[in-house]
Amino acid sequence: MSEHSPFDDDSEVAVTSESLRDDLLDAYPKKTRRKREKQVVVNHKQADESGLVSLPVIGANTRTIPGVITQRGCSYAGCKGVILGPTRDIVNITHGPIGCGFYSWLTRRNQTLAPTDEHDNFMPYCFSTDMQDENIIFGGEKKLAKAIEEAYELFKPKAIAVFSTCPVGLIGDDVHQVAAEMKEKLGINVFGFSCEGYKGVSQSAGHHIANNQIFKHVVGEDNTKRGKWSINLLGEYNIGGDAFLIEDLLQRCGIDLVATFSGNSTYDQFANSHMAQLNCVMCHRSINYVADMMEKKYGPPWIKVNFIGAKATAKSLRKIAEYFDDQELTEKVEAVISEEYPAVFEAQEIYKPRCEGKRAMLFVGGSRAHHYQELFAELGMKTIAAGYEFAHRDDYEGRDVLPDIKVDADSRNIEELHVDADPDHYRGNDRAKAIERERAGYKFKEYDGLMADMPEKALVIDDINHHESEELIRRMKPDLFCAGIKEKYAVQKMGVPCKQLHSYDYGGPYAGFQGAINFYKEIDRMVNAKVWSMIQPPWSDEAKQNAPSSSSIRRDG
Ligand code: SF4
Repeated sequence: MSEHSPFDDDSEVAVTSESLRDDLLDAYPKKTRRKREKQVVVNHKQADESGLVSLPVIGANTRTIPGVITQRGCSYAGCKGVILGPTRDIVNITHGPIGCGFYSWLTRRNQTLAPTDEHDNFMPYCFSTDMQDENIIFGGEKKLAKAIEEAYELFKPKAIAVFSTCPVGLIGDDVHQVAAEMKEKLGINVFGFSCEGYKGVSQSAGHHIANNQIFKHVVGEDNTKRGKWSINLLGEYNIGGDAFLIEDLLQRCGIDLVATFSGNSTYDQFANSHMAQLNCVMCHRSINYVADMMEKKYGPPWIKVNFIGAKATAKSLRKIAEYFDDQELTEKVEAVISEEYPAVFEAQEIYKPRCEGKRAMLFVGGSRAHHYQELFAELGMKTIAAGYEFAHRDDYEGRDVLPDIKVDADSRNIEELHVDADPDHYRGNDRAKAIERERAGYKFKEYDGLMADMPEKALVIDDINHHESEELIRRMKPDLFCAGIKEKYAVQKMGVPCKQLHSYDYGGPYAGFQGAINFYKEIDRMVNAKVWSMIQPPWSDEAKQNAPSSSSIRRDG
């Protein structure tokens, strides 16, 4: 953790984080300012006499202010787009007008690899009930039942999932009733999600809804026993092939990966996932609910891991090995780390000197704005501002604040499942092992959040909007801004490279050791590209000021 403020460093931009924060907020009408000032925070960490560091409180997971041009999406996007979209053998039907399904069709780069062409893979398809006016007036349940039947006839899938969009809840279509009837009729698992876009305040509500339904309808169906070092990887969505690299590392270590939620996943993996001995959580925001519910019902504990960054990957593999506390596994893990590290060091030697000292801003999703700081640190780059679209306070300030978080009216309608231990399948020995490991100092369910790792006085901004992004870039002139497709071109027109950390700019993978090397290369290519020095035409005042003197120009021939 660096205690050095990015705003008091060697940068030529004379601005303090406090004054910049005031400037961002002063542009708003009074009422808007009052709301936004809770979400725009200077990361001022205070230590008490005993050395305990407290972080500032941030406002998060609250309603977006109308008209501010937010980065956020909706609950349907969080449920269907993020959690269920990556599972290749479930037919996912969007119940609604065509837009929601169409715009989310193959736009997230969650890859999959069916072992052979004989295996189901429905991901290239977009299934929709394509609601019309008369379905809004007379209801869409009949059309939905017909769509489910038609999908079954054509594809004979193992399961069909139905995702509600905005009008579905408003007109009162009961997708759960239709799903139950079709399950009975077709003899396959059919289940629905009430993930209408207006539920909650962002994608986050959709994650929670998806977690609940997958847990209720699929997890626990298959009680086949697993290998001796069995884990689930929760919250890894195989963007650009990230999960493929992690799968490879785990396999080489001899670790039995039961299920990934949900990159490169299948229905059967979810159904058997409760038999894993340990849950490893990557994206805390989207999947911590399943981790908690599985622990209560079946016993396996969970730990936080991060496979973004070579150092973080090595640390996560060691943490898994430490849990199982088996010499053979520890040796295998160390062997894999030693095989991978020489190439990482070699790449760092090339790219670090070219990137060192450059300053990055990260505004993405609910976990990457934190995880990717590891990779930038490996390149010697500083993160001077960061924030999430839809994270909650625990993702910023750490899970210790969970008891203090008040659920507001906008999120109260997201169901909290009550889960009890399964009398037949609760595995007391997993629980007993966890308690014993905990006594020995091993930490479960621990996540300190993004702010603890951010530099002192860096700006942390929740649900950043267009005005704030533009002002940050104009005032701080970062060397790199990380966000998504909606921001990319607005940012680059300001002369600053924008790395998409959702789609990876169609590159990647970036997870694990090989992924880290890919990332170093692509960031170097981006921040050191010549094009950024060509934004101003040569006759503009700015270009003249920055032009090399004639004596420094090499003349050949
Ligand atoms: S907000 Fe509603 S209409 Fe828009 S994508 Fe989400 S579910 Fe569809």
